[in-house]
Amino acid sequence: MIDSEDIGGTHIKYLYHCRRQLWLFLRGVRPEHLNAAVQMGEAVHDTTYTRATPVDLGAARLDFVDGQKWVHEVKSSNRSTPADEAQARHYCYRLHRVGVDAKGAVLHYPKTRRTKKLVYTEQASAQAEADIAAVLETAALAVSPPRLARSACRGCSFTDYCWMD
Ligand code: SF4
Repeated sequence: MIDSEDIGGTHIKYLYHCRRQLWLFLRGVRPEHLNAAVQMGEAVHDTTYTRATPVDLGAARLDFVDGQKWVHEVKSSNRSTPADEAQARHYCYRLHRVGVDAKGAVLHYPKTRRTKKLVYTEQASAQAEADIAAVLETAALAVSPPRLARSACRGCSFTDYCWMD
């Protein structure tokens, strides 16, 4: 069983995208290398902000934190999603837990040259805690949550696994 301290950004991202995806990931299913969309994401990531040093918080690993204590995350998609925002919120939460007074997060979307700034508030902190509880709830499920509608699975690295029938 996963411990709350072991919950990282990937768990939070999957929680918001699909609980079945989270459940599979928690059980060690790792089909990411099969998926072209994920490879594209890694390529965008690797060629952007190459001078930034990732920050390792144990389970959570974020792109970088600037001198004003804002978390920066580089994304391969066109615009922000609830999953992106939840992940950034989680990183701010983790930073606060280790004594870094993170002000919030800036999400960068180089493909569309957009950015989104998220201020870290008490409400955001409470939501980050609720998200961790939801990951633990999902981990405790004896059977996998149901699939999403097929249209919501586009680009998911678990598509082959979930839709082999
Ligand atoms: S393929 Fe669809 S149902 Fe399966 S994990 Fe991905 S999003 Fe969820």
